[in-house]
Amino acid sequence: MIPLCIPEVKGNEWKYIKECLDTNWVSSVGSYVDKFENDFASFVKSKNAIVTMNGTAALELALRTLGVGEGDEVIVSSLTFISPVNAIRYVGAEPVFVDVCRDTWVMDADKIEDLITTKTKAIIPVHIYGHPVDMDKVMEIAKKHNLFVIEDATESLGSIHKDKATGTIGHMGCFSFNGNKLITTGAGGMLVTNDEELSRKAKYLSTQTKTVLENGAFYHEEIGYNFRMPNVLAAMGCAQLENVDEYIKDKREHASIYNKLLKDIKGIRLPIEKEGCKNVYWLYSVTVEEEYYIDRDKLIKKLKDNGVDSRPFFMPVHKMPPYKDCRHGDMSVTDEVAMRGINLPSSVGIKTDDISFICNLLRK
Ligand SMILES: *Cc1c(COP(=O)(O)O)cnc(C)c1O
Repeated sequence: MIPLCIPEVKGNEWKYIKECLDTNWVSSVGSYVDKFENDFASFVKSKNAIVTMNGTAALELALRTLGVGEGDEVIVSSLTFISPVNAIRYVGAEPVFVDVCRDTWVMDADKIEDLITTKTKAIIPVHIYGHPVDMDKVMEIAKKHNLFVIEDATESLGSIHKDKATGTIGHMGCFSFNGNKLITTGAGGMLVTNDEELSRKAKYLSTQTKTVLENGAFYHEEIGYNFRMPNVLAAMGCAQLENVDEYIKDKREHASIYNKLLKDIKGIRLPIEKEGCKNVYWLYSVTVEEEYYIDRDKLIKKLKDNGVDSRPFFMPVHKMPPYKDCRHGDMSVTDEVAMRGINLPSSVGIKTDDISFICNLLRK
């Protein structure tokens, strides 16, 4: 089976993790935690980075740091992995779903303003599958209506929007190091921000709001959270990050091979890269249009029968029981893209021969 997306471990992972075990620095304090935060911040060119246990925790931490909660509404895509929507509910706020673009599959910024009310507090642009949301437009709307922007950049590490890394454009940005993401720590996440005050508050909230008194006792002024990543996982993150430029290069090269081999197949619509954007193609995806000879779900089955793992696009979150009554705009593009989209094998280590094999199957 050619897998959908598996991790690539080929650097100093073993060495750094062994060092943690050998020195007993395994838990949430340690030099690799600090190093991972610093290295990650410099890689995405953000002033601050705060590690978390996973990407979902980073999203929740961002919302709590910005004070989003009970009675607030947050605008988010419905075509997304469910994490950002769950995080909105964790803090007691209400998600409001906006439609996506037909060509990039991410939030359609032109449809945001219609959904804004006096309760709207934040927007969460999710850069799904790697393509950046139109952040110029999102930031303009946010400024006009005094809203916070939390980027869910968990699927877009390596993607650029107008010379800035996705995740560093809004007030806060979130990343994930789950096993299927561009780099992995097994489980892990990162919150980035250029705002010193927000960074301090996020770190404080994520470490149980712990203040150490003169006699060594712990004092807690408010409710805190245990969102910290342990040193042993941060060690893996440091090693992964050493190879991230190569991973990004590989991903983009794989996408260009896919594009070349699929481009003249009737009914297969290719992913795009809008002007001013660099797409990391985290999961290389296409849409299966009317003119293709079978539908998306049949294609998934045929690929599977031939040893190729693929996945349908996210089922829209507004169709899930916990969120089916939430407010949303017209969802016609979301519903169509969700029905037509398919993610193809996209591991960093995928072989060119495998890509040819997959493309030949699609052609057949
Ligand atoms: C992976 C992912 C997350 C975070 O996932 P974790 O498993 O919690 O690290 C959040 N949002 C999106 C869109 C994702 O794909």
